Amino acid sequence: MQASLFGQDLDELTSALRGESRRARQLWRALYRDRVANLDILSNRLRAFVPQDASIGHPILAQTATSVDGTERYLVRLADGETIETVWMPEGEAEDFNGRDLRNRGRLADTGYKRATICISSQVGCAVNCQFCLTAKLGVKRNLTAGEIAGQVAVVLNRHHIRVGVDRINLVLMGMGEPFLNYDHVMKAIRLIVEGIGIPASRITISTSGIEPSIRRFAAETIRPNLALSLNAPNDEIREQVMPINRKWKIADLLEAVKTIPLNKRGWINVEYVLLGGINDQPEHAQQVLELLKDIQAKVNLIVWNPGPGIAYTQPDPADVARFHRILIDNGMPTFTRRPRGRDIYAACGQLKRTLEQPELVQVAV
Ligand code: SAH
Ligand code: SF4
Repeated sequence: MQASLFGQDLDELTSALRGESRRARQLWRALYRDRVANLDILSNRLRAFVPQDASIGHPILAQTATSVDGTERYLVRLADGETIETVWMPEGEAEDFNGRDLRNRGRLADTGYKRATICISSQVGCAVNCQFCLTAKLGVKRNLTAGEIAGQVAVVLNRHHIRVGVDRINLVLMGMGEPFLNYDHVMKAIRLIVEGIGIPASRITISTSGIEPSIRRFAAETIRPNLALSLNAPNDEIREQVMPINRKWKIADLLEAVKTIPLNKRGWINVEYVLLGGINDQPEHAQQVLELLKDIQAKVNLIVWNPGPGIAYTQPDPADVARFHRILIDNGMPTFTRRPRGRDIYAACGQLKRTLEQPELVQVAV
């Protein structure tokens, strides 16, 4: 098997180039800043130092489904044939939060102003078994390597000819997998993305179902993206039903761990809350959420549950969503209801599942 260069940090590239640190730095820039897709475009001088059997090793965008809202869902093929999913959401989330109507604003390429969010995966499948999530049905096959995690970003940026630093790109680790059960590879990928590709940590959000020891480790990182905690329930009883992992780490433990993360004055912790019809969407639940978060600098993102085959929940009534939102806002909690992206192509939160083997999930773009 060929050695993949993409995913190696500067020290590893330096060893691969037998200690030629100046060349290693050039290669590092070519791989991450310039995102070269082909070693042949390196200068002959640099190419001469790269081992003959080395390849870049980008993941491959094997299939694309395009939503009416401009979202693209990619089936991404890895070197060993495993597949994951990555999602491209033009315009980004900020406008969604404010409820602006984006339908008539054209595709990203036509707007002339590039702004988008990329949602990447951290594992093949997921072991956490949240009852409302389609990815959970897969179980976990394996962790992704740092190169496979950062590689999703590179290939999607290349597909859209994005100029990092000019175009506004946000990154969320909210695809398949639990990032904090693949901690070392995820954090190495973050360093490659921040220091190499050039997307600032402040534009990256890692979402976790709540792996307490990892949250504590994360608090001590120097390059630290934003954190989103998937709370999804107002108390331990309901959380245990919908997220069995809550038996291991209780809400209070998670919130204590979250409080160890240093935040500056205007920093916040994102709290994700999937609204499940009749389960966690009632006014008393909103009151309990307020109580839980009372001494945390939090922003709550309400996510209307996205359905999936074989999952026995129902969507919340829109009036209940609005009421829940209002209770939080009226009590001073910054709250946003996420507009679902790419639901028609199964690209929305919790709908990611390997589709090559699941052709019934592939819907034709309208
Ligand atoms: N494993 C991580 C990140 C991936 S899931 C985590 O759980 O945080 C990203 C977000 O999607 C989480 O907040 C999760 O609660 C939410 N989610 C999962 N399934 C969903 C569904 N069917 N509808 C809406 N949101 C869902
Ligand atoms: Fe895994 Fe997140 Fe889905 Fe839970 S919600 S099963 S942690 S991907």
